[in-house]
Order: sequence, then C-alpha cells, then structure tokens
Amino acid sequence: AAKAMGRNRAVVYSTDMRDQLEQRATVARDIQEALRQGQIVPFYQPKIDLRTGKVVGFEALARWHHLDQGLLTPASFQTAFEEPELSIAVGEHILKQVAADIRGWLDQGIDCGRVAVNLSPAQFNWIGLAKRFLEIIHAAGVPTERLSVEITETVFLGRTASHVIAALKEFHDNGIRIALDDFGTGYASLTHLKQFPIDDIKIDQSFVKDLETDSDSAAIVMAVIELGTSLGMEVIAEGVERIGQTNLLREKGCSQAQGNLYSPPMSACQVAQFLRGHEAQCA
Ligand code: C2E
Ligand code: MG
Ligand code: MG
Ligand code: MG
Repeated sequence: AAKAMGRNRAVVYSTDMRDQLEQRATVARDIQEALRQGQIVPFYQPKIDLRTGKVVGFEALARWHHLDQGLLTPASFQTAFEEPELSIAVGEHILKQVAADIRGWLDQGIDCGRVAVNLSPAQFNWIGLAKRFLEIIHAAGVPTERLSVEITETVFLGRTASHVIAALKEFHDNGIRIALDDFGTGYASLTHLKQFPIDDIKIDQSFVKDLETDSDSAAIVMAVIELGTSLGMEVIAEGVERIGQTNLLREKGCSQAQGNLYSPPMSACQVAQFLRGHEAQCA
C-alpha cells in the first residue's frame, strides 16, 4: 500500500511540476509581451539623508501596468528576474527607462541625486552584464555618478567568485556605487564586505520593522550601522514607516532612510513634482 501511495504521490508530483513549468512559460511569454507594450516601468522611492533631511537619491523598483490586474509589484512576476534570458531583457528595459528618466530630470534642471537599480543573481550569470549596463548609461548621456546598483548576497551563491568580482569591479571602477541589499538576511556577510568592492549597506526591513519594540532588532541595527560606518560605507535603512524608527536610526548614526514614511515608490512623472515640492499632477 505504501508503495502504491508513493507511486501515486510521484505521479501527482510530476503533474504539479509540469503545471508549474507550463505556468512559468506562460508568465514568461506574458512578460515578453508586456515589455513590447511598454507595460513594465520603473517606479522610484526616495532615499533621505538623516542628517539633513534632504533627498539624496532614489531606488528604481519595477512595476507592471497589467491590463486586467492593475499595477503589479515584483512579487507577482518574479520570473522576470529569475529566468536567465528574461532577466537580461527585463533588466535592459528597466535600465534604459531609468537612464532616460535621469537624463530628462537633468535636462529640466531637476537634481534627482543618485538612482539605484536592483540587479538579480540571474542577471549576473551573464558575463556581459556590466559592459552592457555601462553602454546603456553612456548612450543616454548620463554620468555614471548618477547611478548605483543594489545586489543581494545570493549573487555570491553557486558562481565563480572571479566572475562576480570582475563585474562588480567594472561597476565600481566606473563610479557606480554598489550597495549590499537586504543585509543580514544572507550568509557570511562579513567576508563579502572584505572580498568585494561594496560601497554601501542596506539594512533589511525585517530588522527595521520592530526596531522600537524588539531589543534584538535594535541591537542588530546598531551593530550594522557601526560596522558599515567604520568601513566608510553609507548605511541605508529600508522599510521605514514611522517617525519613531527614524529618530532611533538617526540617534544610532544611520546615514540614510527609505520607506513609506517619506514616500511609497512613485512614477517618474511624480518624482519631478515631488522634487519641486508640488502636488503630483500626473496622467
Ligand atoms: P528591495 O530591493 O529590497 O526593495 C525594497 C522593497 O520594499 C520594495 O518592494 C519596496 O516597494 C518595499 N518598501 C519600500 N518602503 C516600504 C515600507 O515602508 N514598508 C514596506 N513594508 N515595504 C516597503 P517591491 O517594489 O515590491 O520590490 C521587491 C523586490 O523586488 C525588491 O526588493 C528587489 O529585490 C526586487 N526588484 C524590484 N525591482 C527590480 C528590478 O528592476 N530588477 C530586479 N532585478 N529586481 C527588482
Ligand atoms: Mg533594493
Ligand atoms: Mg532590500
Ligand atoms: Mg528584498
């Protein structure tokens, strides 16, 4: 009976697998079509300097204007960042728009600071990533000092370190800052800070979430701020939703904060309004 059950389970499992693969393939086709239709766009969330209260830059976050489902966040289209070929197409599409938006702001005399672009581990599988990234920036006439990239520690998993180092070095040597995102949720973080040309650290929002009430979170946040600061890095807290978190972060010497307290991610048009200090009047 156990054997029969096992066999049944195996059949069920493989059907699930096939469904999953088919579903992924369908989503991949939908994403490619969405790219062609211009439905996948970067939204921007400001980063605030905790010492001055000024906007120091933005993080570009992908959004999909889906015809039936409305505005989608990356959680609903993860495939876009995970499939090797798709992740390159989506990444290129996002970067081109980011570069065009920065160029547009600069042309209007709007100082958008430095804009961060997220790069997934799948994108790093492609050796040409950094070179193509720089090509796109140069073609748009945007100085590299206007950009940074955010990577997670997952990028170091299962890849030859030399290949990742080469890509990071190319970004870094060209004036593009590199931030380690979701810091503290990965593994062997301290070695990475030493081995790779990391410029900044982003404290994961899971630690920021209960900063005021959980002494463990507070201790971790404190330690990351001290670590980053003594390494000469900017330390950016993400997911800041309350003034109490901001006050504590500033007190502990954190340099930047980002979160819905300041602004949720907004469209490129809203950024221009936001920086001019006007109410958004965007289509
Ligand atoms: P991330 O880079 O760690 O981005 C931070 C996430 O926190 C974003 O989710 C942002 O919208 C959200 N967030 C910002 N402020 C708050 C807040 O106050 N409270 C809470 N609870 N959340 C806040 P989002 O936009 O859904 O993006 C999720 C992840 O998807 C990103 O995490 C990033 O890893 C990935 N991603 C987004 N855009 C891109 C992209 O263009 N390329 C790649 N490769 N990955 C992307
Ligand atoms: Mg990020
Ligand atoms: Mg993060
Ligand atoms: Mg994340």
